[in-house]
Amino acid sequence: MHSLTKTALSFNGIGRRCVALNRFSETRIICRGLTCTAEHGEHENELYDVIISGGGMVGTAMACSLGLDPNLEGKKILLLEAGNKKVMDKVPDAYSTRVSSISPGSATLLSGVGAWDHIMNMRCKPYQKMQVWDACSDALITFDKENLQDEMAYIVENNIIVAALTKQLENLSDQVRVQYKSKVVKYTWPKSHQVADAIPWVQVTLANGQTLQTKLLIGADGPNSMVRREAGIPTVKWNYDQSAVVAVLHLSEPTENNVAWQRFLPTGPIAMLPLSDTESSLVWSTSHRHAEELLQLDEESFVDSINTAFWSNENHSELVETAGSLFRTALSVLMPSAGSARQLPPSVAGIGPKSRVMFPLGMGHASEYIRHRVALIGDAAHRVHPLAGQGANLGFGDVACLTQLLSQAAFNGKDLGAMQHLLEYETERQRHNLPMMAAIDLMKRLYSTNAAPMVVLRTFGLQATNALPAMKAQIMAFASK
Ligand SMILES: Cc1cc2nc3c(=O)[nH]c(=O)nc-3n(C[C@H](O)[C@H](O)[C@H](O)COP(=O)(O)OP(=O)(O)OC[C@H]3O[C@@H](n4cnc5c(N)ncnc54)[C@H](O)[C@@H]3O)c2cc1C
Repeated sequence: MHSLTKTALSFNGIGRRCVALNRFSETRIICRGLTCTAEHGEHENELYDVIISGGGMVGTAMACSLGLDPNLEGKKILLLEAGNKKVMDKVPDAYSTRVSSISPGSATLLSGVGAWDHIMNMRCKPYQKMQVWDACSDALITFDKENLQDEMAYIVENNIIVAALTKQLENLSDQVRVQYKSKVVKYTWPKSHQVADAIPWVQVTLANGQTLQTKLLIGADGPNSMVRREAGIPTVKWNYDQSAVVAVLHLSEPTENNVAWQRFLPTGPIAMLPLSDTESSLVWSTSHRHAEELLQLDEESFVDSINTAFWSNENHSELVETAGSLFRTALSVLMPSAGSARQLPPSVAGIGPKSRVMFPLGMGHASEYIRHRVALIGDAAHRVHPLAGQGANLGFGDVACLTQLLSQAAFNGKDLGAMQHLLEYETERQRHNLPMMAAIDLMKRLYSTNAAPMVVLRTFGLQATNALPAMKAQIMAFASK
């Protein structure tokens, strides 16, 4: 049995059978004014146990995870998504430009909710090794599993992840109701019990005028989260001086293509992530102006720029080279077997049709992930630079943690929207997310310069880390959660 499938069996009560009665067809209508306003026949002011606002990768995973939890059986769960339903009857021949590096921890979550098999049946590329190196020196670090058969992570197209989760949600239609094309335009928060006529639940108003109520609102509505904004949750955020250019790359020749490559240029990191033997995905973070220029280039010049960015040594300096080589010699005396050999990335021959797109980059962190009857997950709670490929992974970690705490609360007969377990969620996730976010931001800053003292410092740091297998193992373990 595949190791992920084995893990999944112990996760989240997978394999639970659907209950015979569809609880949504015998809706308890607890409201005034029975006006049917939505296409599924929902009633005005219908009360849910949980409403998830936002059906991106993270919100859809949350819906599946809650829908499968045995302790939450009988709870009324609704997923609201502003966009269309994303189904994929047939995987398109051309790769999508939007991909994510999915950690083993996230793969376990996706497996636990039954989506991983769909992903494997659609398209997914595991990789076994990662090489990260500095364009201003010879410093490099490699990460690989002791056993090269083990996967370090998987590159999966975002639309395949959502389609796989959507397919799984269809099997859970008795547990989770889903409304697409349902944009939330207003949230009304519960008032204190002393206020006369106060509604104790969160009220959700949709663009079509429909109102719903929920004991717990989960905000999975992305980096510009309306849930976060309307709840008045303070957020630390800033825009980076960079945009990411993404594209599908055709390699010059077929290779095993099982390495994720990332080179830190003074203008930002460029990454090449494997998709197949002949194709890879580009994520090139650079200044806004350079990103715009890259988008305007003809295909040949664009491909030349990529190859130069990975291969050229134009940013090397004699001073840094000498310091780096002295340090490397000292390390090799102290730890003769440490370190790893440099590998050369494949060269690029072309790009996929209409595959160049750019995204402005930023960082954001909600100082609180919860309020009474509200929890934030995914990019609604935290947004990071893509240099570590962690944004969606942090979100899937939120899903696993919140599911577990809500399951426990339901088992103990607690109110799902109560602060007690929501606080546990916030503490547990901030303990994980904050150090990761700080490390990513530090990396971004450390590598955004070619000033010699800084380059020497990071060269020493990278070489020393590369020579310490225990430290590398710890970094890998942290990033693979
Ligand atoms: C270039 C780039 C590369 C990346 N690479 C990686 C990677 O390799 N690995 C990784 O882990 N992460 C990566 N990320 C980060 C990852 O893409 C995000 O973290 C992830 O997409 C966040 O998912 P989400 O579901 O939280 O939010 P979103 O994807 O933003 O989804 C939010 C959803 O909410 C819906 N919504 C919004 N407002 C409303 C409303 N009012 N009513 C109803 N619905 C609403 C939207 O329609 C949307 O579907 C990358 C990001 C970028 C930009």
